[in-house]
Amino acid sequence: MGLSEINDRIAKAEQEAGRVGQTTLIAVSKVQPPERVEAVLQEGHRVFGENRVQEAQDKWPAWQETYPGVELHLLGPLQTNKARPAMELFDVIHSVDRPKIARRIASMAQELGRCPGVFLQVNTGEEPQKAGVLPSEADAFVAEARALELPVLGLMCIPPVDEHPSMHFALLAKLAARNGLEGLSMGMSGDFEQAIALGATHVRVGSAIFGARAGTA
Ligand SMILES: *Cc1c(COP(=O)(O)O)cnc(C)c1O
Repeated sequence: MGLSEINDRIAKAEQEAGRVGQTTLIAVSKVQPPERVEAVLQEGHRVFGENRVQEAQDKWPAWQETYPGVELHLLGPLQTNKARPAMELFDVIHSVDRPKIARRIASMAQELGRCPGVFLQVNTGEEPQKAGVLPSEADAFVAEARALELPVLGLMCIPPVDEHPSMHFALLAKLAARNGLEGLSMGMSGDFEQAIALGATHVRVGSAIFGARAGTA
């Protein structure tokens, strides 16, 4: 596939949903060979997502020098002891998944004098192994994050692999709307068009742009 095909498919999905120009494509570059990422940088794309703080620290500072205007999004779980480097490197954190990390980010923001935008992760499928607050806890978590003065952009979810994603996207959209949040980080390679139809503002697309990843993650 590649970047231009994905951009075309996003444009078409936006058109059909009456949401032209309202989606940000996050190119998920985790674990990809550097030459594939460079090719996408050279095509002019600047918004990228990574799952691990350490991996991003190893790769991105050099590219940020060569390609001005890079915007980095953290998509994977964040440990409290990685909050500082994460906040120094990333522009947006999509994986604020529990009160403890929200509080950590808030206190670190005091220290650093700045804070990345955050999405609060909701475990829409209520899967025991998955990060995020339960849907029933979402309203309280939004309130807590706002009380901490975090710049809350919206909600994020990763639907269960074995279920139709649309009901999860619709649930996330409902939770965001009733909390007055506009941002919806949802949709990946296999389902970003459905996510756009249900209001996604940020789609996170990896393998459909770069090709299959080696190994897992
Ligand atoms: C890896 C990952 C993606 C991208 O997945 P693809 O199926 O390759 O598009 C999106 N979001 C998160 C949170 C991820 O970990």
